[in-house]
Amino acid sequence: MLEIKQLHKSYPIGKDKLHVLKGIDLSVQSGELVAIMGSSGSGKSTLLNIIGMLDELDEGTYTLDNVPIVNLNEKKAAQYRNKFLGFIFQSFNLINYKNAVENVALPLYYQGFKRKERMEKAMFHLKKVGLENWAHHLPNELSGGQKQRVAIARALAAEPKLLLADEPTGALDTKTSYEIMDFIQELNDEGKTILIVTHEEDIANMCKRIVRLKDGVIMEDKFVEQVRASQYV
Ligand code: ADP
Ligand code: MG
Repeated sequence: MLEIKQLHKSYPIGKDKLHVLKGIDLSVQSGELVAIMGSSGSGKSTLLNIIGMLDELDEGTYTLDNVPIVNLNEKKAAQYRNKFLGFIFQSFNLINYKNAVENVALPLYYQGFKRKERMEKAMFHLKKVGLENWAHHLPNELSGGQKQRVAIARALAAEPKLLLADEPTGALDTKTSYEIMDFIQELNDEGKTILIVTHEEDIANMCKRIVRLKDGVIMEDKFVEQVRASQYV
């Protein structure tokens, strides 16, 4: 599914540079559920953003679905993102003046679907996250957990091969976090490949593999016995 070799990434800080990722090797197979762990500032989001083609690597190689991701212009990168990837963020990133179903339908607009089809597909995915009765509510009328469900439905709408989640439970209380993880585990059971950035041990243990970043290198990469979130919800 994806293969990264000897990835380096620095950010310029005045005249200096901050070397954030220092030779990352990572491959992920189709169907995996991987947690990327590490303390704040360890480079988790930087790695996820490079995987998500939101940022570029300085050195090394990155292959996604057998396509080398190199020197993509903005248009090409957007095409690949739409085709392969779904994103979930800590802060949900919903559009405030659009209701739930319109938010979910948005990526389908960029894929060229007609309005009727967009709305049908969006409703299908809203149903999947249990929010069909909230379709016409605005984000500010929804709880945090409901907002994240809308964001998940939106990420799924374009049927991505790979789901990337940056601290998806970071803004949620424990119970709601586990409900979201339960849903993420079900998606993975259905075969979806998912990468989750988190700094919470309990969330990481609900994945099948934990990759630990420290000071820009992978210090540990192991498969774990998956804790099911359903026992807590
Ligand atoms: P994490 O997600 O693990 O908390 P990040 O990947 O966001 O860490 O950041 C890693 C380091 O890179 C931090 O020190 C952060 O301040 C720095 N950094 C991240 N993005 C930028 C940027 N666009 N410009 C400069 N520094 C950045
Ligand atoms: Mg981060």
